Amino acid sequence: MKKVYLDNASTTAIRPEVITEMTKILSEDYGNPSSTHSFGRNAKSILELSRKSIAKHFNVSAQEIIFTSCGTEATNWILRSAVKDLKVKRIITSKIEHHAVLYTVLALKKEYNIQVDYVAVRPNGEVDITHLVELLSQEKKTLVSLMHVNNEIGTDLNLDRISTICQEHNVLFHSDTVQSIGKTVIDLQKLPIDFIVASAHKFHGPKGVGFAFVRKNSGLQPLFYGGEQEKGLRAGTEALHQIAGMAKALSLSYANLEAEKKGITELRTYLINQLKLEFPEFKINGSSEGFYTVLNVLLPFSEDKTAMILFHLDMKGIAVSRGSACQSGSIKPSHVLAEMLSNEDLKKPSLRISFSHENTKEDIDLLIQALKSI
Ligand code: PLP
Repeated sequence: MKKVYLDNASTTAIRPEVITEMTKILSEDYGNPSSTHSFGRNAKSILELSRKSIAKHFNVSAQEIIFTSCGTEATNWILRSAVKDLKVKRIITSKIEHHAVLYTVLALKKEYNIQVDYVAVRPNGEVDITHLVELLSQEKKTLVSLMHVNNEIGTDLNLDRISTICQEHNVLFHSDTVQSIGKTVIDLQKLPIDFIVASAHKFHGPKGVGFAFVRKNSGLQPLFYGGEQEKGLRAGTEALHQIAGMAKALSLSYANLEAEKKGITELRTYLINQLKLEFPEFKINGSSEGFYTVLNVLLPFSEDKTAMILFHLDMKGIAVSRGSACQSGSIKPSHVLAEMLSNEDLKKPSLRISFSHENTKEDIDLLIQALKSI
């Protein structure tokens, strides 16, 4: 049975070149970057070349890239330090953020008694910019945290517009860019964003490594204490093979961006057309103009099929998801869809299909066939 992987918003397959790079470092470059001998100096050089290479893709300086264990850690660090050290008194976010933001914000509210405001979300999953501007009229030290590409429905925030609004209102702006990094160009010289975060496994790199972009002189303080790694902002011996693997994966993603984007966009359109043909009453959750790697659809099946659908597809070798990976095994409706759909529609089966350059038309045909057999 051919297996079909259409769950690339959860995680992606590592590119073979990345595995080669990581294996070489694991076997040959095992020095500690903090050691002063040749082994350490060699490791330090790999570390700093990786940082430089990553920074270049965003048009920023290498010192503004801080390595972390994942996107979740980077977001926790930034939001917590913004409140604790930068004395942010209010966070404006939305209810459709990833839990890495939502739960961190709730924890900070409890611990520091900060004000939390949620920007309204339109029925198509886009945040209401007029409401954001209204919220920003209040004078209070504020941080706005809004994700770039939504991991469940693929809505694509206008970073240019939002970052400019934040700058005009003199507030900090953090964007969870975990789903968009490596898949679209983000020029941080042009965009006045203070903080973005990344997780390598979302762009065909290894799991367990990510980074934060923290604009120069941000004033952030570390989340935890220890060695002087990452200029004292993130203590702990660097996972060199992970970091170099991430840098390699990012370079390959950007080197192949246009061709891969074209191929994936065509597949997504093909899927939409096939769904129109076979299930004319299906609906797109979000917008058909959403980000090219994600498509979330509401299928015209009866409610009793909802619980079984993933299982049925899995039996046929097809991996898709119902919401974010952390929720897909749960029967609770996704918190993102809950913000957008009626109670009626929420009970019906919705599927998130997320693509990579490794997918083919045959994958889509197999998915459609499997759906038809339900
Ligand atoms: N933010 C978004 C939008 C995501 O999709 C994810 C992963 O699903 C994360 C944050 C968290 O990434 P990680 O689990 O790698 O820290």
